[in-house]
Amino acid sequence: MATIPAATSAALAPTWFGHPRQLARLFSTELWERFGFYGMRALLVLYLTKHFVFEDRIGGGMYGAYMSMVYLTPFIGGLLADRFLGSKRAVKFGAIVMAAGYFVLCFGGPQATPTATFDGTTRPVTIEAQADGKDARFVADGTARLRIKGNDDGSVALVRPDGTTARTLAKGAFVGDAVRSPLYVTVMLLALSAIVVGNGFFKPNISTMVGSLYAQGDKRRDAGFTIFYMGINLGSLGSQILCPFLAVAFGWWAGFGLAAAGMLVAFVLIQFDGGKLAGYGEAPVGGDGRDRSLVIYLAAIAAIAVPWLLFSNTLTAVPAAVGSGLGGYLLALPILGKALFATFVIGVPAILVWSYRAGSTQEFQMMVAAMVLIVFNVTFWTLFEQAGSSLTLFADRNTDMSIFGLFTITAGQTQFFNAFFIVLLAPIFAAMWAALARAGREPGIPVKFAIALIGVGAGFLFLVWGTHFADAGYKVAVWWLAGLYLIHSMAELCISPVGLSMITKLSIARIVGMMMGVWFLSISVAQYIGGIIAQVASVATVGGEVTNLHVSLDTYAGVFQTIGLVAAGIGVVLLAVSPFLKRLMHGVD
Ligand code: GLN
Repeated sequence: MATIPAATSAALAPTWFGHPRQLARLFSTELWERFGFYGMRALLVLYLTKHFVFEDRIGGGMYGAYMSMVYLTPFIGGLLADRFLGSKRAVKFGAIVMAAGYFVLCFGGPQATPTATFDGTTRPVTIEAQADGKDARFVADGTARLRIKGNDDGSVALVRPDGTTARTLAKGAFVGDAVRSPLYVTVMLLALSAIVVGNGFFKPNISTMVGSLYAQGDKRRDAGFTIFYMGINLGSLGSQILCPFLAVAFGWWAGFGLAAAGMLVAFVLIQFDGGKLAGYGEAPVGGDGRDRSLVIYLAAIAAIAVPWLLFSNTLTAVPAAVGSGLGGYLLALPILGKALFATFVIGVPAILVWSYRAGSTQEFQMMVAAMVLIVFNVTFWTLFEQAGSSLTLFADRNTDMSIFGLFTITAGQTQFFNAFFIVLLAPIFAAMWAALARAGREPGIPVKFAIALIGVGAGFLFLVWGTHFADAGYKVAVWWLAGLYLIHSMAELCISPVGLSMITKLSIARIVGMMMGVWFLSISVAQYIGGIIAQVASVATVGGEVTNLHVSLDTYAGVFQTIGLVAAGIGVVLLAVSPFLKRLMHGVD
């Protein structure tokens, strides 16, 4: 079919906020896609720990595996679109597969039955509401019905109705778990796998389409991506409020159902574009002219089995024994973890060796700078992405969610703070960078990265400070969490939009696509390590609730303090080496 050269049509067509008007359609499509994605993410860790009653370690590991695969598949989806499908068809296909995934999540079956194992016997746990409105958990021991109470030292007391302690089980001698339907677990994992595959087709290619609206050298490109980033966060903001609300009011299915509906809106917007996107993201011409789309679609649907197998492997992998060292730990990792680390650790130096051979000295040095920044990037997202896992569980367990005593929000809804602050701050940051640039004072890319790392660490340290002001029930005011998200959002604006354009500027041109893949791979590795950190922040639970809020508060404070200090320290190191990096970058900023 006839294609209109993007640059020509963009110059002639009417504009939208000074941008090609096609941006409006891509903006709203991505808004609704992220509506689905983040609405579902707001529920996921709670769904795993409360509905499926997985212990924290398993829930954190599955969440990390899901998010890391979500950032891994775009590499393949981008490649397939470039070679065969074209961005637009890839986006449409991805939208349908993701919507199907969200929809299938609505079918979670009945809640898993919580159990407790001690003395070598597994017994059912019952959950009952008490006069004070809180739930209590009970287990049968012989004929006695005993209340489960976690002690501050990690041991568990079984308490008689008269309040006396029947027995105390040492830390580790009492294990909370659940009996869950293998069928519904399989259905849930297949749904997550479909989202992973669908996202691979959708996410990279909608961004490519935005890029294709601007001719090479068009100064509006960065601003266009900023507007697009606003769309991402507007979408997530809405669903992070609505999906958790529906899940609490009507059940999990309603929250996931809304995510699916949002995703379908994205599909409709691009499928029925009224010709607005004609000529953009069309299938590539050339090759033998055969349309391979059907084969690719079928293969992609069959490939849903791959993340599913990796999930199953993550669920069954036995963690390394304490004292087996780093080598033992790495060997005991699930296949996904091994594959990710190996690809990253081999891929990064291999690309550098290639650049040394194939590029000029200057090109090689710029590639070294890009790779160093990519490695630091892992630290940022590892901490930042605690939002969906350990920070949401912290909100659920140790946060007083009252808003000025007027109303309360739910744990999933706290994820909305990030999107809210991004929408608020993105224009301010854009203006600030511009003003600093005019004054010749805009920090270079390595300094912005260092600020982001120090910021993401500082956000955690801010929350740890807040834990000293916890109330008698070991709950911290929600404003401390909001403060963390404010700091994290400012940090995100120093690294996320900056990083993408940095890749396009520092890469040797013919491998820029692959370098973009390495950028996403670094986020994927980060998501995986983020899952491990969420596992380190695990707290003992029975029936999806922690047994002792004092212990959980101390656990979170300890882990958050450690990662906060480490990230800030790594940020300071980056700040110290930034003058050297700047020299390697040969004027790119
Ligand atoms: N929040 C942004 C998005 O979903 C960026 C996330 C990321 O790159 N890790 O697109």
